[in-house]
Amino acid sequence: MEDIDLLKTQLNNPSKIVITTHHKPDADALGSSLGMANYLIKKGHRVQVITPSEYPAFLHWMKGNDDVLIYSDEAHAKCEELMEKADIIMTLDFSVLSRINVLGEMVRSAKGFKINVDHHLDPEDFADFRLWNTGAAATCELCYELIIALGDENLIDKDIAECLYAGILTDTGGFRHPNTTQNVHEVVSKLIAHGADNSRISKNIYDKNSVDRLRFLGYALNQNLEVLMDKRVAFFALSQEELRQYNSKTGDTEGLVNYALSIEGITLAALFKEADDGIKISLRSIGEFPANEMAGRFFNGGGHRNAAGGKVETSLAEAVDLFKTAIEEYKEGLQEEYKKV
Ligand code: 5GP
Ligand code: MN
Repeated sequence: MEDIDLLKTQLNNPSKIVITTHHKPDADALGSSLGMANYLIKKGHRVQVITPSEYPAFLHWMKGNDDVLIYSDEAHAKCEELMEKADIIMTLDFSVLSRINVLGEMVRSAKGFKINVDHHLDPEDFADFRLWNTGAAATCELCYELIIALGDENLIDKDIAECLYAGILTDTGGFRHPNTTQNVHEVVSKLIAHGADNSRISKNIYDKNSVDRLRFLGYALNQNLEVLMDKRVAFFALSQEELRQYNSKTGDTEGLVNYALSIEGITLAALFKEADDGIKISLRSIGEFPANEMAGRFFNGGGHRNAAGGKVETSLAEAVDLFKTAIEEYKEGLQEEYKKV
C-alpha cells in the first residue's frame, strides 16, 4: 500500500468522487465500486459510480445499484463532465485504461486525484495512489483492507459488507480456487460480523436462473461442448444465432466455461462467444498453466493465470482455429498440469 496518509488527507474534505470499473462488470467490479461508494457517501462525499457497460441482473440487488450511471453514447457528455469535475477518481478491479473503453481517455486526461485498487497482473500505472496486490483474491478484499487502513472499520455496515462479500465470493469461485487464502477467510468472517448475509448473497448470485438460461446450459452442454481429450482442452463456441434462440442476456453465459474445466483430465477450457463487434474469449486453466499469457499472445487480452480473456475481430470459426494454433504452441504445458491434481 502506498502512502496512506496522502490518501487520508485527500479524503478529509467532502469531495466529488467518481468511481469506475472494468467493462462488463462482474461481482468483484461492481461490489468493490458500490462497496466503496456506500462507504465514501457515509464519509460525507458526493459519489457517482460509472460503469463502461451494463452488467448482469444477478448483481442488481447491491445497495446503490439504481444510482449507477452506465456509459452509452447518450451518456457520453455527462460522463465526461463528471470525470472533468471530479476531485477524486477511483478506478477499481482493473489497471489498464483500455479496459474501460472510451472512459479510459477521460480518466487519463482528468485532473482529479486518481486512486487505483486492483489485483490484476497488468502493468499500467496511471494513479496517484495505488493499492495493487496480485496476491489478493479480489479487489473487494483489498477495498476492505483499505477501509481498515483508513481507520474506518466502524463505518462498515451491512450494505457495504454485502457488496464486498459478493466480489470475494465470486472471484474465489465460491471459495474453491487456489486464491482462497487464510486472509480471504479472515476478511469474509469480518464482513459477516458486519452483517453480510452470506447465504442470501449466494442465492442472489448463483440461484436466480431463468428457465431460458438453464435450457440454454443444457443445449450448450449437449450440442456445443467440444472435448479434445488428447490435447487436455475443452471448449464452447457460441454463435449469435444460438445465443438469440435462447434469449441469452448479459451474464447468462457466466460460469459456462467452468463446466468445460470441470471435466476430469482437462487443463484448459475456453468459451468463444460471437458478438456484433467480434469474438469474446474466456479462458480458464488449472495449476500453473498460464491462461493470461495465452490470452495476451493470441487474443489481445490478459487476466489472471487461471482466468483470462480477450477479444478478436474475426469470425467464430477463425477464432477457434486461432485457439487450435495456440494449443499446439502450449502442448507440453497442457500435458503437464492435469496430472498434478
Ligand atoms: P471473463 O472470462 O470472466 O470475461 O474474464 C476473466 C478474467 O480475464 C477477467 O477477470 C480479466 O482479468 C481478464 N480479461 C477478460 N477479458 C479481457 C480482455 O479483453 N483484456 C484483458 N486484458 N483482460 C481480460
Ligand atoms: Mn476481480
